Amino acid sequence: MPGDETVFECRRCGTCCRDLVQEDKGVLRGLTLLPGEEELFPEASVRPAVGIGRRPHERGFTVIAHQLVEETCPHLGEAECRIHDRRPASCRQFPFSLREGPQGRQQMGLDLNCPALAEIVEGRTGLRIRFEDRRSAERLLEVSARARERPKKAWFYDLENGKWMRYDNLIDER
Ligand code: SF4
Ligand code: SF4
Repeated sequence: MPGDETVFECRRCGTCCRDLVQEDKGVLRGLTLLPGEEELFPEASVRPAVGIGRRPHERGFTVIAHQLVEETCPHLGEAECRIHDRRPASCRQFPFSLREGPQGRQQMGLDLNCPALAEIVEGRTGLRIRFEDRRSAERLLEVSARARERPKKAWFYDLENGKWMRYDNLIDER
């Protein structure tokens, strides 16, 4: 029926567990991990991602998110996630996401690299899809909101060169 809410069903194909390191606003970044989630991964596979403070490594500098440095997640089995029930918020929200739109309104993003979602969306307009794990997306949005609020004190760690980049020096792609 037109206007009905469509339910997205993950096929557990593993596509979203590969090619995890990507460029964003001029910074090479891996899968974002919220506080505590870094403990799900081997220490050598994790780096800081977002920090708040006057300068990195100074007293008071706080890392508010980490990132996975691997292109393919070490928890990916043949195609299934081996830690499905404990997977990070970045995985739980996918293929949906939230970003801040005009007047601070939340806008839903859809990642059509997910074949199951691409199939639902193809050739259809006015589609309403149930956002399965909005809370995970909100928690991730809170991290970027904290950075945006203090652009001169927010830092993003670039995997390309292993250096921190200040938020107000990132490339604005809006
Ligand atoms: S790419 Fe889509 S269908 Fe495949 S595992 Fe990820 S969310 Fe599920
Ligand atoms: S934790 Fe699981 S769902 Fe997330 S990237 Fe790794 S294998 Fe995929």
